[in-house]
Amino acid sequence: MQSPKQPTDQTPQQSPPHQSPPRQHNSGWTTESLSLIAGDAPHTLLLGTHPSTASLADKPLTPIQNKLRANEYSGPMNFGNPNNSFWNIVLSGLTSRVRHELTYDEILTVLKEGGFALWDVVRSATKAEKGSLDSKIITAMSQYNPVLQYVEEEPSVQRVVMPKNTAEMLVTSTNKEARGLLSDKKDGRPGFAVLTDGPVSKATLEVFRKKAFRNLTTMTRSELEETRLQGARVVELVVVCSTSPANALLRGYEKEKIWFAAAFEIEEDEAPPFYRCACCGVVGTHILATCPARTSEWRADAMKRNGELRKTWNAWAKSGREGEEPSLDEFVWAI
Ligand SMILES: [Zn+2]
Repeated sequence: MQSPKQPTDQTPQQSPPHQSPPRQHNSGWTTESLSLIAGDAPHTLLLGTHPSTASLADKPLTPIQNKLRANEYSGPMNFGNPNNSFWNIVLSGLTSRVRHELTYDEILTVLKEGGFALWDVVRSATKAEKGSLDSKIITAMSQYNPVLQYVEEEPSVQRVVMPKNTAEMLVTSTNKEARGLLSDKKDGRPGFAVLTDGPVSKATLEVFRKKAFRNLTTMTRSELEETRLQGARVVELVVVCSTSPANALLRGYEKEKIWFAAAFEIEEDEAPPFYRCACCGVVGTHILATCPARTSEWRADAMKRNGELRKTWNAWAKSGREGEEPSLDEFVWAI
């Protein structure tokens, strides 16, 4: 078992995160997750299921895709599919800087300095065939990262946030190791709780009401605060929407709004002070999801402009990169 206290401060630009090449064998296709990313005393652990083929750099990308991924970083990278909204949301919640300007190292620094840790639930994933969908993971044949051990050993962690598909896998898995990752009510272990109020409680309760987790404590936000004031350690479990492009039911700005409320404590009628609305350009008053000027015509136009920017940048990259690099400042992420 990989210890969670192993090096947590990866510098992927120089030394790629832990990763073995995918292995194909008779019973399936196996890939390894990337290392835990965590700074000092994180308050929130963000959990994913397992890196996609694009994250593991096992899928060819165009020059602009690599540019939009993290300033032409082509190595293994958590949420490395440029169409995944995860890093856009993290960066727009924590900084005024955008993804294509930053190296992967700089992106990870923003995440860690913001008090977030990032890890995958499945360490070694076996799928029947090559592919990225979490639903293809054969849980009985997979191995898991010691998430519970990490939470136990990091008393600063107050909240574990995971997308619905990850949470559902933990709840419905017949694999004891997977189910035990968030087991509760054991001697000396932190208590996990699901809140019954707040913007994401409904989605969270829907998943964790399942039989296997019936012992999970439910409480209101004020009860949680009161319990903590009395000195008890309670870790809040939060379920959010998937940021993956496979979750096509939600637009990027809708995912952003849900994640802001769930993981960044940014309420619906608020915006980070440096957040520039991609539609009207106003800074620090509202997010794109609540912009009064956002119309379907605006979105269609923004998508068209994104397409033109992609074409211009790819043409520049393919023709030998002569002259000034085309600016991507007008690129709209959250559509
Ligand atoms: Zn606006």
